[in-house]
Amino acid sequence: MADPRGFLTTRERELPRRRPVPVRIKDWKEVYEEQDLTVLRRQAGRCMDCGIPFCHSGCPLGNLIPEWNDLAWKGDWGEAIERLHATNNFPEFTGRLCPAPCETACVLGINQPAVTIKQVEVTTAEQAFAFGAVKPQPPERLSGKTVAVVGSGPAGLAVAQQLTRAGHTVAVYERADKAGGLLRYGIPEFKMEKSVLDRRLEQMVAEGTRFRTGVDVGADITGEQLRKRYNAIVLTTGSTIPRDLPVPGRDLDGVVQAMTYLPQANRAALGEEVPDQIVATGKDVIVIGGGDTGADCIGTALRQGARSVTSLEILPQPGMDRSPDQPWPTYPMIFRVASAHEEGGERLYAVSTSAILG
Ligand code: SF4
Repeated sequence: MADPRGFLTTRERELPRRRPVPVRIKDWKEVYEEQDLTVLRRQAGRCMDCGIPFCHSGCPLGNLIPEWNDLAWKGDWGEAIERLHATNNFPEFTGRLCPAPCETACVLGINQPAVTIKQVEVTTAEQAFAFGAVKPQPPERLSGKTVAVVGSGPAGLAVAQQLTRAGHTVAVYERADKAGGLLRYGIPEFKMEKSVLDRRLEQMVAEGTRFRTGVDVGADITGEQLRKRYNAIVLTTGSTIPRDLPVPGRDLDGVVQAMTYLPQANRAALGEEVPDQIVATGKDVIVIGGGDTGADCIGTALRQGARSVTSLEILPQPGMDRSPDQPWPTYPMIFRVASAHEEGGERLYAVSTSAILG
C-alpha cells in the first residue's frame, strides 16, 4: 500500500498547472507544466490500495493502478513502469489523452476528491523514459510467422508491438505518410506533442516492427495480395468517414469537418507546407459539437488567431456534480472545462443546428 495515512493527510487533488493562456495560445506546445515530483508522489500516496479497487474496473485496460501508485509514491519508476506496461503499451498516450474513467470510479471519490491517477500514469511514463527504463524489447527468437497490421493508430501500434515481441515478423501498413493515425493527425500538438509518438515508434522499430507508410490497402495493395504474403492480417483501421450534419447550408463555403481541419492544422504546426490550408485567422468560428473534438477545434482556432469562437452543444449544460441517476462509480456527465475552453470562446448549450445560413 502507498502511504497508509496519505488519504487522511492530503485530502485535495493536486494537478500540474496549465501554462498561462496568453502564453500558450501563441505556440503549439503542450498545455501542462511539469509537476513537482514531491507533489505527484504525495498524490500517489493517497491511494488506499482498496480491497476491491474500483479504479481497475473503471479503466478499459484494467490497469493495475494501486500497484503503480504505490511504486510511484516510493519513487521506484523502474518497477512502476513495469506494472504499467503490464496492461498498457502506451501509458504516455493514455496519461495525456484518456478521459480517466478510473478516477470517476476511484473509491476515494465517494467522500473526497479522487486520486490523480492519470497524472501518476503520465509522470511514471515520462520518468521511466527519462531514466532510460523504457528500452526496446526485441524477441529472443523468431516464430517464422509474418503478420500484416492494417492501420497504425493506437490499436494497430499496440497489436504490432505485442506480436513483434512474441517473435512474429510484423509489418504495419498505413496510408498516410507517417505512422500514428489519429495520434499524429487528429490530436493537436497542444494535447500531445508528436515527439512523444515518435519516441515510442523508435522503440518499436528497434524491436523489429516494420512500417509501410503511404500504402493504401485496398488501393495500392489488395487484401488478396496481403493474404498471400502474410500468415495473418490484423485490421486496426479507424474511420475517416465523418458523421455528417444534413441540414440546409451544409455545403456552403467554410463549413468543414473537424477531420479535414485538424489534420491540416497539425501538419502546419509541425512546419509542413499545407496547400490551401483552412485557417481560422481573423474569422468568426462556430464549432458544432461540445465534445473533445470540438475542444480540439476551439484550441486550434484560437491558436490560429480566430476573431471569435462559439461552441454549440446540443445537450443542456450539465451540472457541476453527479446527478442521482449517475452515481459513483459511473462516468458522469458533469460540467468540464478542457484547456481549450479556458483559452477563450463562448459555449452555448441546448442548441440544435437546423440550418446554416451564409
Ligand atoms: S479505487 Fe482509488 S483509492 Fe482505491 S485502489 Fe484505486 S486509485 Fe487507489
